[in-house]
Amino acid sequence: MPPANSSAESRRLLTPATIPAALEAQAAGARLLAGGTWLMRSALRDEPLTGAFASLHAIPALSRLDLTPEAAEIGAAVTHARLAEALAGIPELAPLAVAAGASANPGVRRAATLGGNLCATEFPAADLACALLALEADVDLERLSGPGRVYMAQFLARREALLPGALVAGVRIPRRAGRLGAHVRLPLRKAGDYPVAIVSLTAEVADGRLSRPVIAVGSVEPVARRWAELEAALDGVSLDPAAGASAAAGLLSSFSPREGIEAPGWYRAEVLPALVRRALAALEASA
Ligand SMILES: Cc1cc2nc3c(=O)[nH]c(=O)nc-3n(C[C@H](O)[C@H](O)[C@H](O)COP(=O)(O)OP(=O)(O)OC[C@H]3O[C@@H](n4cnc5c(N)ncnc54)[C@H](O)[C@@H]3O)c2cc1C
Repeated sequence: MPPANSSAESRRLLTPATIPAALEAQAAGARLLAGGTWLMRSALRDEPLTGAFASLHAIPALSRLDLTPEAAEIGAAVTHARLAEALAGIPELAPLAVAAGASANPGVRRAATLGGNLCATEFPAADLACALLALEADVDLERLSGPGRVYMAQFLARREALLPGALVAGVRIPRRAGRLGAHVRLPLRKAGDYPVAIVSLTAEVADGRLSRPVIAVGSVEPVARRWAELEAALDGVSLDPAAGASAAAGLLSSFSPREGIEAPGWYRAEVLPALVRRALAALEASA
């Protein structure tokens, strides 16, 4: 007999056409369904995949991708593939373009969405979440009581409390001319793997010096977060990848790395200096 959660009869697909309709469906017990690339692996996590699912694909507002000189406004249903294509070659948005274009594999990238990446709360290796932290994005939330906006760092730290009864509508990324960025990740194989560790960074570079670096680390701890100690250490110093890596090596004790089947915790932290070096080298190449 097949396991209960493989029974298609125990699932129901709803296709709300508006955000309020999706929120109503959610309030009635439906789970929001975006690309399904995380939800479809529920069985691997021993989680039931039954009940009603409200697909977000028929809601036009969630597929917007608007680029103005001031900001990039990106709807939650925009896929990794579309993001990578639309943002290619925009220096200040490079972390998100690279994150979207390097995650998973082409088939998954055509389905997986920005909103799903932010809302898969048990997924520590989310590339877009890490890039959006480095880009200091804001997250737009919708509830039946009305819309709201939270800083990305605040969203990630509090999303278990923020998400019930809410839908992520999209993100707003401020575009700051002259700011550069990089996103580097370490999968154990070439493609398709979850990365062992991720470093996303943005900074201004003037006269060979870094200014106001924002450095985010993903996949090392259960949730991506900024590396405040390294940001402080690199602010105002020469853009020197080797020196940046040694600064990072001296600041690893601030992490409590997670254990995982693909890598032990100590390894996730130990690879960070090399990822910082690569990220700074990428920044140097784009300056
Ligand atoms: C083999 C494989 C490898 C992968 N490797 C990577 C990788 O290395 N890096 C990476 O970043 N991604 C990777 N992914 C993709 C990853 O699953 C997605 O990035 C993302 O976490 C899920 O997006 P989704 O659109 O498929 O979400 P779904 O699976 O549809 O949903 C995920 C969760 O988010 C909720 N949700 C979805 N949208 C919203 C919304 N707008 N508002 C509120 N809640 C919402 C759902 O209810 C569900 O709980 C991989 C996927 C696979 C299958």
